[in-house]
Amino acid sequence: MLPFARITIIGIGLIGSSVARATRKAMPTARITAYDADPAVRETVRALDLADDVADTAGASVIDADFVILCVPVGAMGAVAAEFADDLPGDAIVSDVGSCKGSVLAALTEALPGATIIPAHPVAGTERSGPEAGFATLFQKRWCIVTPPEGADALAVERVAEFWRRLGADVELMAPDHHDRVLAVTSHLPHLIAYTIVGTASDLEEVTQSEVIKYSAGGFRDFTRIAASDPTMWRDVFLTNREAVLEMLQRFSEDLSQLQRAIRWGKGDELFDLFSRTRTIRRSIIDQGQDDAREDFGRNHEG
Ligand code: NAP
Repeated sequence: MLPFARITIIGIGLIGSSVARATRKAMPTARITAYDADPAVRETVRALDLADDVADTAGASVIDADFVILCVPVGAMGAVAAEFADDLPGDAIVSDVGSCKGSVLAALTEALPGATIIPAHPVAGTERSGPEAGFATLFQKRWCIVTPPEGADALAVERVAEFWRRLGADVELMAPDHHDRVLAVTSHLPHLIAYTIVGTASDLEEVTQSEVIKYSAGGFRDFTRIAASDPTMWRDVFLTNREAVLEMLQRFSEDLSQLQRAIRWGKGDELFDLFSRTRTIRRSIIDQGQDDAREDFGRNHEG
């Protein structure tokens, strides 16, 4: 049996359009209704035939839904939920795909008192945005972390988990606050570092912009992919997961200072030990199927 039969997706960007495409493939008999605040996006959704219905308001999109999944930036979750609160059927389950969970759960609970809210975060994405950027296999063999509030209805949690399994994801349950600390280390801090490095390199006066681009294969290029991620999404992530990010940033600054000292005092053994440890971490990510094992991320070096 399908976990849901009438699915509403709100926010049809990279993630929302991927959810639509993957749902069509995995659950072809489920009816998909889409809504996006941007009329141009709604037109694209119609042109690409990503949904059975495209609504012109958030309220109209949820009217007979049994599952509503919010795929808007985390800072917009509360406002969009307030827009459809009066039209939400009493037995519908509301979820989202936001990259931070504590703040989203709080915003949705405030906007939708009494509703069944089971937040989730598919740990999958690219640096692209918009409805054309999505694809049906985005969630295949990726983790989806479901973060139910304390005391959540077990059947509702299982239906949301089953939805993600059908889209190809491996599901893990986690408390919202724990999720935010884990993702602060594995995703939010790396993005902050990439934004900093790319910004610093482009500001350096003694190195020209053209040299930075010309010799980017030395490492810089791999940071630029992360630093090209959507500015709205990442602004919201840092503002809403502030506490956990600041805590991890403090730890990172201390470790960076230690490295600085090791370089200054010529402590080669210390550097070698750290770099050996990090190489092992890279190996275990590949062994667990979370990245491409091919050299240089599978880039083609022929010709
Ligand atoms: P995206 O491509 O920019 O799509 C977001 C869409 O939501 C846009 O079409 C946007 O329209 C629309 N929107 C914004 N505010 C709205 C509102 N109040 N009502 C209705 N629609 C609204 O972003 P995305 O990358 O798919 O990210 C969406 C969510 O997924 C975010 O919460 C993000 O944290 C989460 N996520 C992202 C990734 C990733 O790698 N990208 C991975 C996992 C989870 P406008 O363009 O007009 O603003």
